[in-house]
Amino acid sequence: MATFEELFEAGIIIHGHRCPAMPVGIKAGLAAMEKLGVTPAKNKELFCIAEAGPTHAMHCFCDGVQFATGCTFGKGNIIKANYAKLAFTLIDVKTKKAVRVVLNPVFHKKALSSEFLKQRLSGVEPQDVPAEIANPMIENAISQPDDVLFKISEVFNTDFTLPKGTFEWVECQKCGEITFGCGVRVQDGKQVCLPCSGYEAAEVKR
Ligand SMILES: [Zn+2]
Ligand SMILES: [Zn+2]
Repeated sequence: MATFEELFEAGIIIHGHRCPAMPVGIKAGLAAMEKLGVTPAKNKELFCIAEAGPTHAMHCFCDGVQFATGCTFGKGNIIKANYAKLAFTLIDVKTKKAVRVVLNPVFHKKALSSEFLKQRLSGVEPQDVPAEIANPMIENAISQPDDVLFKISEVFNTDFTLPKGTFEWVECQKCGEITFGCGVRVQDGKQVCLPCSGYEAAEVKR
């Protein structure tokens, strides 16, 4: 299993910049897995319900959670609940046991009034925050013990069932693109993809 340092180093390549929230997300993912007694998902052994919303500060946290747990958009084992919170529930798919981790409000409030966030608020992009501001913040954040950074629930039971994946596909009878079953609609007797069906806005805009 990769160490925090290895995940952090690799994570920066994918994430794109150095910031405090991403490595804190890695630590959160590692803490959740430790509590559940599981290792990162090779495929869909774990499922994550991230509570972040579409647009808010410190959203980078979610990338760290993905890097640590292996619950990724690409594997289809993470969804966003859009509660606009830095929290997530990690589920062991086989045992249906779960744990919820939320950023400790005490730590979160300090982070939201930090120099790094002030820079971001004034329009500075994360990669342009001076290293003398970013680095001490990152160092401070990642050196905190888990109970300062997070509130971690006890392990609890869920009735979670993994959504079944589909290998069935059709060729859209309008645009000719391959579309998997769950995205196919029937219109005037033709099998068409969502954008071609015109139903897209209603079904996708959530
Ligand atoms: Zn970031
Ligand atoms: Zn189409």
